[in-house]
Amino acid sequence: MGIRGGTVSQSYTAQYEILWSAIQETLEAPKAKIEHSDYSAGVIIATTGLNFWSAGTRFTISVRNVGNSTTVEISAKPKNKITVVDYGQGTREIQRIFQQLEEILASAASDKPHKENEKTCPACGAKLAKDAKFCPECGRKMEE
Ligand SMILES: [Zn+2]
Repeated sequence: MGIRGGTVSQSYTAQYEILWSAIQETLEAPKAKIEHSDYSAGVIIATTGLNFWSAGTRFTISVRNVGNSTTVEISAKPKNKITVVDYGQGTREIQRIFQQLEEILASAASDKPHKENEKTCPACGAKLAKDAKFCPECGRKMEE
């Protein structure tokens, strides 16, 4: 796990779309509010409120394919700009997110080893039948 400032990055062998949906699931637990989510750019911006892990934090999460692995990078900034930046606090929150993400990945791997009849739309991330020709959500034509 690489740590610099308020940013932590971690690489996984899981595919991009698996990580993408695991991150969405991870963010549900701390009741994070997803403010921006762009599947094709691999960027999620989420904020947590006052009552959870801290006085409110804005997370920027980036997901990208690097060779055969997928790298997830999360940075945290206090929502309140007056707050003195505490990189230690932000880093602990990020590590908690990674911990949850890894639990979700582990349970996903054991619960449903193969979803062979499903694929994920590369444009919007919607789940669709493996033989679908078009995405029902965004209309993208599927490659063979
Ligand atoms: Zn789509």
